[in-house]
Amino acid sequence: MDAFQYRGNELYCEDVPVAKLAEEFGTPLYVYSGSMIVETLKTLQEVYAEVDPLVCFSVKANSNLGILRLLKAYGSGFDVVSGGELFRVLKAGGDPAQTVFAGVGKSDPEIAQAIEAGVLMFNVESEAELDSIARVAASMGRVAPIALRVNPDVDPKTHRYTATGQKESKFGLDIDRALRIAATVKDKPSLTMIGMHMHIGSQITTVEPYAKAVAKGVELIGQLREMGHPIAWYNMGGGYGIGYKGPEAKPLKEFAAAILPGIKAAGCRLAIEPGRVIAGNAGVLVGRVLYTKQSGDKRFVIQDAAMNDLIRPALYESFHRIWPVTVPPGLPAPPTDYEAAIPGTEPRDVVGPICESGDFFAKDRPLPPLDRGDLLATFSAGAYGMVMASNYNTRPRAAEILVEGDQARLVRRRETLDELVAAEEGL
Ligand SMILES: *Cc1c(COP(=O)(O)O)cnc(C)c1O
Repeated sequence: MDAFQYRGNELYCEDVPVAKLAEEFGTPLYVYSGSMIVETLKTLQEVYAEVDPLVCFSVKANSNLGILRLLKAYGSGFDVVSGGELFRVLKAGGDPAQTVFAGVGKSDPEIAQAIEAGVLMFNVESEAELDSIARVAASMGRVAPIALRVNPDVDPKTHRYTATGQKESKFGLDIDRALRIAATVKDKPSLTMIGMHMHIGSQITTVEPYAKAVAKGVELIGQLREMGHPIAWYNMGGGYGIGYKGPEAKPLKEFAAAILPGIKAAGCRLAIEPGRVIAGNAGVLVGRVLYTKQSGDKRFVIQDAAMNDLIRPALYESFHRIWPVTVPPGLPAPPTDYEAAIPGTEPRDVVGPICESGDFFAKDRPLPPLDRGDLLATFSAGAYGMVMASNYNTRPRAAEILVEGDQARLVRRRETLDELVAAEEGL
């Protein structure tokens, strides 16, 4: 399903014209398709049905309560990396028993909070963290369920900032170390090792890295069981890639075909932690053109959406399709082949109002002529968009809209300037 389609010359999110939302709620504005989010969740639940999957949506990709509530309603669990994210999951009515707690730097209070809530398991990233969880659990008179996060040492062939499963990564444990640590878990009665966890990277577009990782995981699970650990869960993490330019990632069915045989062989239930693939293409960021200008040979489009709203281009040099919300007559929907010449366009840099050279969404991007007041949609902005937004330049963060069919709901209102200074006043 592509929830964002042009009807005539107008961009729609499902059955709602995006321009109408921008008119009503202002810009910058995030617009999400609830139906697309649910559809991807269901697809994941279906393609892994043979291994009784628990899809744990990675809250760091998009933590809006409206979206978490929607996912929960369709049976999603959650993957959290902080006490703050766990707080959001509980607020949204998420089930802690279907929530996994990951992250390299869990503090003692966060560990206690997660034990208190009753999370399904901790993904453990180091020996020292294992000791902390054991100590905190013992002090509470509880037994904490854990899974070691293992680095299978495969190359996910993704951006160096989003590779996490190689030996020289700050994440997880290499296999030898995991085995050594597993041997010590028996001496810690406040821990029970019920799973094994891997997360090899993000925006992975081919299935081979998963197949290689699972092969190593199955062997490791055998060894862990021989030690007497009751491994019931294989947590394969997230990382499924999406199309930012076009259909560059393999369909979910093909990932499943690579992963399933190993999980079945291991006789485990499967947990997965998808973030981007559920939310990424289900969201756009809408901005309004403020000015156009020319410097030397360069043409700039300055819009009101900026790097504080969506930092991915500045942080990862990531590519997002950008196209007018209302397309001038004669121009097609946004191109999927940026190698070919696109008639009716000229290269432009799309930038925001922030005082940083890094404040750009695109460079030399083919775009039709644009005027002040025109709306621009930046696509594939539903994951790692709003969650990384900041108030840099004292800019209130964007509002967020969740669309389902012909219904549009405000799920986060725009911040006010008073809210931005509230924590600094009356001290
Ligand atoms: C970021 C992350 C995910 C989600 O990654 P996506 O690429 O968005 O699917 C899942 N698990 C862990 C441990 C992560 O750090």
